[in-house]
Amino acid sequence: MLSVIRDLTVKDVRFPTSVEQLGSDAMHTDPDYSAAYVVLETDCNLRGFGLTFTLGKGTEIGEKNSSYKYGKHCLFTHQMLMEGYPAYTTSCAWIGYSDQLLQQLCTDALRSGWTKFKVKVGADLEDDVRRCRLIRETIGPNNTMMIDANQRWDVAEAIEWVSRLAEFKPLWIEEPTSPDDILGHATISKALAPYGIGVATGEQCHNRVMFKQFLQAAALQFVQIDACRLGSVNENLAVLLMAHKFKVPVCPHAGGVGLCELMQHLILFDYICVSVSLSNRMCEFVDHLHEHFTSPVVIQNACYMPPKDPGYSCEMFESSVRRHQFPDGDVWRLDMKK
Ligand SMILES: [Mg+2]
Repeated sequence: MLSVIRDLTVKDVRFPTSVEQLGSDAMHTDPDYSAAYVVLETDCNLRGFGLTFTLGKGTEIGEKNSSYKYGKHCLFTHQMLMEGYPAYTTSCAWIGYSDQLLQQLCTDALRSGWTKFKVKVGADLEDDVRRCRLIRETIGPNNTMMIDANQRWDVAEAIEWVSRLAEFKPLWIEEPTSPDDILGHATISKALAPYGIGVATGEQCHNRVMFKQFLQAAALQFVQIDACRLGSVNENLAVLLMAHKFKVPVCPHAGGVGLCELMQHLILFDYICVSVSLSNRMCEFVDHLHEHFTSPVVIQNACYMPPKDPGYSCEMFESSVRRHQFPDGDVWRLDMKK
């Protein structure tokens, strides 16, 4: 029986992450991770939930994500159920963290089983050299390091800067320059190939046509789809299929608000139905704000475990939405009184 949508509400939900420098990078020094959160009410008991991630001021347009369930034809492999999908952590090395905190967080993460670490770079070269050296020494030569400049450089500067960091053996440089500069990324890719450093990008890439041109121009070596930046599940699936055709691994962008919850479905679809490979594949993980979701991601031994609940995992607790709604929720009203 068809159900009819009777109501739609959009809430501006913001988390004061800037207080502890969570999410800080070379371009966003004090972000408050936020979401435009949508709830659909129907004439039966069904409710629909969707969100798009923003940095607070961008929460002005609500986007709707459609519910998504696996078909019965999709078989989880034994490996997925037992071991999960490999993840890497961005939580250890935000740009605003002190050296002492970097070292402590990397040490703690190693003890928890993490083997892949991303480091924010791009504000100051000598700082980056020091921080990358510290992290490489802490995680050892066999674990994986990636670096992320959040679009900070122009093309020539990116090549020069990353060449200086090549001694620390990063697997990729992420967003080295403007996310729209496809040919610039191709130039950087070509220049860094001799160092064994790939270019990763895509978290700001808004449709499949952009990804098509990035792939055609050999401008990236790691595809970083974003569940909210690309409009709808279908657009994400189109990029997964193209990446497979070009034999380029997909290592999605996640973190933010709810992006890990959404992306866990897309990586499993990629593994089960498209790439059928874990080679050079991993999904970003950032360890905050999951407690606001009714079906948060489950990480075990640095892997995303397959979700058991139906849907796209984007329902937030009503109490969390109420407290963080901007500007009238308790969190923001109390903050403004300070
Ligand atoms: Mg990034």
